[in-house]
Amino acid sequence: MSSQFEITERNRVRRLPERGRYERGDVYAILDSNFLCHVGFVQDGQPFVIPTNYGRLGDEILLHGSAASRMMKHLAAGNAACITVTLVDGLVLARSGFHSSINYRSAMVYGHGVEITEPAQKNDALYAISENICPGRWSDIRGPNPQELKGTSVVRVPIESASAKVRTGPPKDEEEDYSLGIWAGVLPLHTTTGELIPDPRLPGTIKVPEYLRRYIAAKHRNGNSRE
Ligand SMILES: Cc1cc2nc3c(=O)[nH]c(=O)nc-3n(C[C@H](O)[C@H](O)[C@H](O)COP(=O)(O)OP(=O)(O)OC[C@H]3O[C@@H](n4cnc5c(N)ncnc54)[C@H](O)[C@@H]3O)c2cc1C
Repeated sequence: MSSQFEITERNRVRRLPERGRYERGDVYAILDSNFLCHVGFVQDGQPFVIPTNYGRLGDEILLHGSAASRMMKHLAAGNAACITVTLVDGLVLARSGFHSSINYRSAMVYGHGVEITEPAQKNDALYAISENICPGRWSDIRGPNPQELKGTSVVRVPIESASAKVRTGPPKDEEEDYSLGIWAGVLPLHTTTGELIPDPRLPGTIKVPEYLRRYIAAKHRNGNSRE
Protein backbone atom coordinates (compact mmCIF):
# COMPACT_ATOMS: atom_id res chain seq x y z
CA MET A 1 0.00 0.00 0.00
CA SER A 2 1.33 3.42 -0.96
CA SER A 3 2.41 5.82 1.79
CA GLN A 4 0.41 8.52 0.02
CA PHE A 5 -3.28 8.68 -0.84
CA GLU A 6 -3.86 8.93 -4.56
CA ILE A 7 -4.78 12.48 -5.55
CA THR A 8 -8.10 12.41 -7.39
CA GLU A 9 -10.91 14.82 -8.22
CA ARG A 10 -12.49 13.82 -4.88
CA ASN A 11 -9.63 14.64 -2.49
CA ARG A 12 -7.51 17.19 -4.36
CA VAL A 13 -7.17 20.41 -2.31
CA ARG A 14 -7.98 23.21 -4.73
CA ARG A 15 -7.76 26.49 -2.75
CA LEU A 16 -4.18 27.09 -1.50
CA PRO A 17 -3.06 23.67 -2.74
CA GLU A 18 0.36 24.11 -1.07
CA ARG A 19 -1.45 23.49 2.22
CA GLY A 20 -2.70 20.10 1.02
CA ARG A 21 -1.14 16.89 2.37
CA TYR A 22 -1.77 13.40 1.09
CA GLU A 23 0.79 11.36 3.05
CA ARG A 24 -0.90 8.73 5.22
CA GLY A 25 1.40 9.77 8.09
CA ASP A 26 0.21 13.40 7.90
CA VAL A 27 -3.47 12.43 7.73
CA TYR A 28 -3.17 9.86 10.53
CA ALA A 29 -1.26 12.28 12.81
CA ILE A 30 -4.29 14.59 12.63
CA LEU A 31 -6.76 11.73 13.18
CA ASP A 32 -4.74 10.57 16.19
CA SER A 33 -4.72 14.04 17.77
CA ASN A 34 -8.48 14.23 18.28
CA PHE A 35 -11.41 12.05 19.32
CA LEU A 36 -14.29 14.08 17.88
CA CYS A 37 -15.10 13.84 14.20
CA HIS A 38 -18.03 14.93 12.04
CA VAL A 39 -19.59 12.22 9.90
CA GLY A 40 -21.30 13.50 6.77
CA PHE A 41 -23.69 11.35 4.76
CA VAL A 42 -26.70 11.76 2.49
CA GLN A 43 -29.90 9.87 3.17
CA ASP A 44 -32.83 10.19 0.77
CA GLY A 45 -31.28 13.38 -0.68
CA GLN A 46 -30.95 15.01 2.76
CA PRO A 47 -27.38 15.68 3.97
CA PHE A 48 -26.63 15.06 7.67
CA VAL A 49 -23.41 15.92 9.54
CA ILE A 50 -23.20 14.19 12.91
CA PRO A 51 -20.59 14.95 15.58
CA THR A 52 -19.36 11.72 17.09
CA ASN A 53 -16.42 9.99 18.77
CA TYR A 54 -14.08 7.73 16.83
CA GLY A 55 -10.96 5.66 16.97
CA ARG A 56 -8.48 4.51 14.32
CA LEU A 57 -7.06 1.06 13.81
CA GLY A 58 -4.63 0.95 10.90
CA ASP A 59 -6.38 2.21 7.79
CA GLU A 60 -9.87 2.20 9.31
CA ILE A 61 -11.96 4.67 11.29
CA LEU A 62 -14.12 3.08 13.98
CA LEU A 63 -17.47 4.48 15.07
CA HIS A 64 -19.94 3.33 17.67
CA GLY A 65 -23.43 4.32 18.73
CA SER A 66 -26.89 3.12 19.56
CA ALA A 67 -28.08 0.30 17.32
CA ALA A 68 -31.16 2.50 16.77
CA SER A 69 -29.13 5.52 15.58
CA ARG A 70 -29.82 6.79 12.08
CA MET A 71 -26.11 7.31 11.40
CA MET A 72 -25.11 3.84 12.60
CA LYS A 73 -27.90 2.10 10.67
CA HIS A 74 -27.01 4.06 7.54
CA LEU A 75 -23.30 3.22 7.76
CA ALA A 76 -23.92 -0.40 8.81
CA ALA A 77 -25.85 -0.77 5.52
CA GLY A 78 -22.60 -0.02 3.63
CA ASN A 79 -23.32 3.56 2.65
CA ALA A 80 -20.74 6.27 1.89
CA ALA A 81 -19.47 8.79 4.43
CA CYS A 82 -17.15 11.76 4.50
CA ILE A 83 -15.53 12.12 7.92
CA THR A 84 -13.74 15.28 9.01
CA VAL A 85 -11.45 16.02 11.96
CA THR A 86 -10.31 19.58 12.75
CA LEU A 87 -7.68 20.91 15.15
CA VAL A 88 -7.52 24.67 15.73
CA ASP A 89 -3.98 25.78 16.62
CA GLY A 90 -4.32 29.54 16.71
CA LEU A 91 -5.88 32.80 15.54
CA VAL A 92 -3.88 34.44 12.79
CA LEU A 93 -4.36 38.16 13.44
CA ALA A 94 -3.44 39.98 10.26
CA ARG A 95 -3.46 43.69 9.55
CA SER A 96 -6.56 43.32 7.37
CA GLY A 97 -9.73 41.29 7.63
CA PHE A 98 -8.99 39.71 4.28
CA HIS A 99 -5.71 38.15 5.44
CA SER A 100 -6.91 37.25 8.96
CA SER A 101 -6.95 33.50 9.25
CA ILE A 102 -6.72 30.43 11.49
CA ASN A 103 -3.79 28.09 12.01
CA TYR A 104 -5.31 24.65 11.73
CA ARG A 105 -4.82 21.01 10.84
CA SER A 106 -7.78 19.22 9.29
CA ALA A 107 -8.37 15.88 7.65
CA MET A 108 -11.14 14.63 5.37
CA VAL A 109 -11.58 10.91 4.97
CA TYR A 110 -13.80 9.07 2.50
CA GLY A 111 -15.11 5.55 2.84
CA HIS A 112 -18.07 3.20 3.16
CA GLY A 113 -19.33 1.71 6.42
CA VAL A 114 -18.91 -1.98 7.27
CA GLU A 115 -20.77 -3.29 10.31
CA ILE A 116 -18.70 -5.21 12.88
CA THR A 117 -20.74 -7.99 14.45
CA GLU A 118 -18.13 -10.51 15.59
CA PRO A 119 -17.89 -10.00 19.42
CA ALA A 120 -14.07 -10.06 19.69
CA GLN A 121 -13.68 -7.59 16.79
CA LYS A 122 -16.42 -5.43 18.29
CA ASN A 123 -14.58 -5.41 21.59
CA ASP A 124 -11.30 -4.45 19.86
CA ALA A 125 -13.04 -1.58 18.07
CA LEU A 126 -14.63 -0.29 21.29
CA TYR A 127 -11.21 -0.55 22.95
CA ALA A 128 -9.67 1.55 20.16
CA ILE A 129 -12.39 4.21 20.46
CA SER A 130 -12.02 4.31 24.25
CA GLU A 131 -8.20 4.48 24.09
CA ASN A 132 -8.45 7.34 21.61
CA ILE A 133 -10.54 9.31 24.12
CA CYS A 134 -8.78 8.42 27.38
CA PRO A 135 -5.80 6.05 27.12
CA GLY A 136 -5.73 3.52 29.97
CA ARG A 137 -9.39 3.91 30.92
CA TRP A 138 -10.64 0.74 29.19
CA SER A 139 -8.52 -1.60 31.33
CA ASP A 140 -9.67 0.20 34.49
CA ILE A 141 -13.43 0.04 33.93
CA ARG A 142 -16.04 -2.73 33.70
CA GLY A 143 -16.21 -4.11 30.19
CA PRO A 144 -19.46 -4.29 28.19
CA ASN A 145 -21.87 -7.11 29.09
CA PRO A 146 -23.60 -9.08 26.31
CA GLN A 147 -26.74 -6.93 26.49
CA GLU A 148 -24.73 -3.70 26.24
CA LEU A 149 -22.74 -5.14 23.33
CA LYS A 150 -26.00 -6.08 21.58
CA GLY A 151 -27.39 -2.55 21.97
CA THR A 152 -24.21 -0.97 20.65
CA SER A 153 -23.64 -0.79 16.93
CA VAL A 154 -20.01 -0.68 15.79
CA VAL A 155 -18.95 0.24 12.29
CA ARG A 156 -15.57 0.41 10.61
CA VAL A 157 -14.94 2.74 7.71
CA PRO A 158 -11.95 1.59 5.64
CA ILE A 159 -10.20 4.76 4.46
CA GLU A 160 -10.48 4.73 0.66
CA SER A 161 -9.21 8.24 0.13
CA ALA A 162 -8.18 11.16 2.29
CA SER A 163 -6.56 14.57 2.35
CA ALA A 164 -5.22 16.90 4.99
CA LYS A 165 -4.95 20.66 4.91
CA VAL A 166 -2.62 22.53 7.25
CA ARG A 167 -1.98 26.23 7.87
CA THR A 168 0.93 27.31 10.06
CA GLY A 169 2.90 30.49 10.64
CA PRO A 170 2.38 34.25 10.85
CA PRO A 171 -0.06 36.41 8.90
CA LYS A 172 0.67 37.02 5.23
CA ASP A 173 -0.24 40.67 4.79
CA GLU A 174 -0.18 42.95 1.77
CA GLU A 175 3.29 44.57 1.60
CA GLU A 176 1.90 48.11 2.08
CA ASP A 177 -0.05 47.01 5.21
CA TYR A 178 3.13 46.10 7.19
CA SER A 179 3.70 49.85 7.86
CA LEU A 180 0.24 50.24 9.47
CA GLY A 181 0.41 50.70 13.25
CA ILE A 182 -1.65 47.59 13.94
CA TRP A 183 -0.59 44.69 16.18
CA ALA A 184 -0.36 41.50 14.17
CA GLY A 185 0.69 37.94 14.93
CA VAL A 186 -0.69 34.62 16.15
CA LEU A 187 -2.68 33.86 19.28
CA PRO A 188 -2.00 30.13 19.88
CA LEU A 189 -5.02 28.16 21.11
CA HIS A 190 -4.74 24.85 22.98
CA THR A 191 -7.18 22.37 24.46
CA THR A 192 -6.22 21.92 28.08
CA THR A 193 -7.60 20.20 31.17
CA GLY A 194 -9.29 21.73 34.21
CA GLU A 195 -9.37 20.54 37.81
CA LEU A 196 -10.72 17.00 38.21
CA ILE A 197 -14.26 16.91 39.67
CA PRO A 198 -14.66 13.66 41.64
CA ASP A 199 -18.09 12.00 41.40
CA PRO A 200 -20.02 12.98 44.55
CA ARG A 201 -20.52 9.23 45.16
CA LEU A 202 -16.81 8.40 44.86
CA PRO A 203 -15.37 6.97 48.10
CA GLY A 204 -12.48 9.15 49.26
CA THR A 205 -10.24 6.07 49.45
CA ILE A 206 -10.11 5.78 45.64
CA LYS A 207 -7.15 7.70 44.28
CA VAL A 208 -6.80 9.37 40.88
CA PRO A 209 -5.39 6.72 38.53
CA GLU A 210 -1.92 7.13 37.06
CA TYR A 211 -3.15 7.14 33.43
CA LEU A 212 -5.34 10.16 34.23
CA ARG A 213 -2.39 11.99 35.81
CA ARG A 214 -0.40 11.23 32.65
CA TYR A 215 -3.26 12.50 30.45
CA ILE A 216 -3.40 15.79 32.37
CA ALA A 217 0.39 16.23 32.34
CA ALA A 218 0.56 15.53 28.58
CA LYS A 219 -2.25 18.00 27.82
CA HIS A 220 -0.42 20.72 29.75
CA ARG A 221 2.80 19.94 27.86
CA ASN A 222 1.45 19.41 24.37
CA GLY A 223 -1.90 21.21 24.04
CA ASN A 224 -3.49 19.98 20.83
CA SER A 225 -0.95 17.26 20.02
CA ARG A 226 -0.55 13.79 21.44
CA GLU A 227 2.86 12.59 22.64
C1 LIG B 1 -18.84 15.34 21.52
C2 LIG B 1 -19.89 14.38 21.03
C3 LIG B 1 -19.60 13.03 20.98
C4 LIG B 1 -20.57 12.11 20.55
N1 LIG B 1 -20.24 10.80 20.43
C5 LIG B 1 -21.13 9.93 19.92
C6 LIG B 1 -20.78 8.55 19.67
O1 LIG B 1 -19.63 8.13 19.88
N2 LIG B 1 -21.73 7.74 19.16
C7 LIG B 1 -22.99 8.20 18.87
O2 LIG B 1 -23.83 7.42 18.38
N3 LIG B 1 -23.35 9.47 19.08
C8 LIG B 1 -22.45 10.35 19.59
N4 LIG B 1 -22.80 11.65 19.80
C9 LIG B 1 -24.19 12.02 19.56
C10 LIG B 1 -24.44 12.24 18.08
O3 LIG B 1 -24.03 13.54 17.72
C11 LIG B 1 -25.92 12.14 17.71
O4 LIG B 1 -26.69 12.93 18.59
C12 LIG B 1 -26.48 10.75 17.73
O5 LIG B 1 -25.69 9.81 17.03
C13 LIG B 1 -27.83 10.90 17.06
O6 LIG B 1 -28.43 9.68 16.88
P1 LIG B 1 -29.98 9.60 16.44
O7 LIG B 1 -30.08 8.51 15.44
O8 LIG B 1 -30.84 9.58 17.65
O9 LIG B 1 -30.25 10.98 15.79
P2 LIG B 1 -30.73 11.29 14.35
O10 LIG B 1 -31.97 10.54 14.05
O11 LIG B 1 -29.59 11.18 13.40
O12 LIG B 1 -31.04 12.82 14.54
C14 LIG B 1 -32.34 13.38 14.53
C15 LIG B 1 -32.17 14.87 14.49
O13 LIG B 1 -31.71 15.31 15.77
C16 LIG B 1 -30.82 16.38 15.62
N5 LIG B 1 -29.52 15.98 16.22
C17 LIG B 1 -29.00 14.75 16.33
N6 LIG B 1 -27.82 14.79 16.94
C18 LIG B 1 -27.57 16.09 17.20
C19 LIG B 1 -26.50 16.77 17.81
N7 LIG B 1 -25.40 16.12 18.24
N8 LIG B 1 -26.59 18.10 17.94
C20 LIG B 1 -27.66 18.76 17.50
N9 LIG B 1 -28.70 18.17 16.91
C21 LIG B 1 -28.66 16.85 16.75
C22 LIG B 1 -30.65 16.62 14.12
O14 LIG B 1 -31.51 17.65 13.70
C23 LIG B 1 -31.09 15.31 13.51
O15 LIG B 1 -31.59 15.39 12.20
C24 LIG B 1 -21.86 12.58 20.19
C25 LIG B 1 -22.13 13.95 20.23
C26 LIG B 1 -21.16 14.84 20.61
C27 LIG B 1 -21.47 16.32 20.57
